[in-house]
Amino acid sequence: MEGFRHFSGVTTLALDSAACIGCGICTHVCPHGVMTLNGKKAKIADKDGCMECGACARNCPSGALAVTPGVGCAAYIIQTWLKAKNIPVDAKCC
Ligand code: SF4
Ligand code: SF4
Repeated sequence: MEGFRHFSGVTTLALDSAACIGCGICTHVCPHGVMTLNGKKAKIADKDGCMECGACARNCPSGALAVTPGVGCAAYIIQTWLKAKNIPVDAKCC
């Protein structure tokens, strides 16, 4: 589903730069390339690319990342993908 994105400006992803230790784990676990390293600190490079999967926050050793898991948002992306392929969907999302 490459290229499909969340709605703009609604993700709950938040980064506490002061708490970041620059390990880079978030840049490896994010499936959408949202996170990058800027020197020794993480940076949110593509906030609207975040699908709120929670992988970065779960794996961050310093608690610098927070995100509310967005099941509805994942459903939106899946529905968009199915509609683009003319596959009928009746699931509800956010
Ligand atoms: S996983 Fe956490 S501590 Fe490591 S670079 Fe990312 S935000 Fe910083
Ligand atoms: S919640 Fe998921 S998609 Fe969003 S920045 Fe973290 S790992 Fe990437």
